[in-house]
Amino acid sequence: MKQRLEHIRTRIQQACARAGRDPATVNLLAVSKTFGPDAIREAAGLGLVQFGENRMQEVREKVPQLEDLALRWVLIGHLQTNKAKDAVRWVNEVQSLDRESLAETLHRRLADDGRSIDVLVQVKTSPEPSKFGLEPGELLPFLNVLQNYPTLKVKGLMTLAINSDDEAAVRACFSQLRQLRDQAQAAGYTGVQRLSMGMTSDFEWAIEEGATDIRIGSALFGSRSYA
Ligand SMILES: *Cc1c(COP(=O)(O)O)cnc(C)c1O
Repeated sequence: MKQRLEHIRTRIQQACARAGRDPATVNLLAVSKTFGPDAIREAAGLGLVQFGENRMQEVREKVPQLEDLALRWVLIGHLQTNKAKDAVRWVNEVQSLDRESLAETLHRRLADDGRSIDVLVQVKTSPEPSKFGLEPGELLPFLNVLQNYPTLKVKGLMTLAINSDDEAAVRACFSQLRQLRDQAQAAGYTGVQRLSMGMTSDFEWAIEEGATDIRIGSALFGSRSYA
């Protein structure tokens, strides 16, 4: 894993160099879904502190086994409203906020606890029906609605690009997210800064298009088996 991480870091640096960016502005989220506590412990030993998961079931199994490490847990998968209450107990950030009913449930629970969490709004930039997220045109009205839920600190946007080898098509998804972020800022939502985009297959393009957070699973942990 050490070598895989070094290789990822090198590729991040090279993509940043091409884009004239400082590598310190790209945050690596280790996507640990399907990998167990031992793998996460190994990654933490290499200095990684933020881990992304897509199912609450897995979060609930792993987090208690790793409580001796000061890790930060990030939810990157679709969250059912009936699991939202539980989510705020375990995760530090939700990147898959995509509807008001979820915001309302998260907020109610957080307000009860007197806490807040960071959230990213997931936007659908790809035509694939399997992808979750707001339609781009829904973003500004949604950001307006989110002002009613002040325990949710809106830090930016998240997307999954189209699953394709076509570089132009993938980059178009990323550049659309960046443009939406710029529009949100111009509309006064100045807290909307981060762009979570790019995974193993496309993170270099994402960095060149402005990603501040890349979500890397298999390039770090190896290939996943869903057995
Ligand atoms: C699984 C997953 C990733 C990481 O995928 P890899 O291709 O293994 O890097 C990134 N983002 C989301 C939302 C995911 O579900």
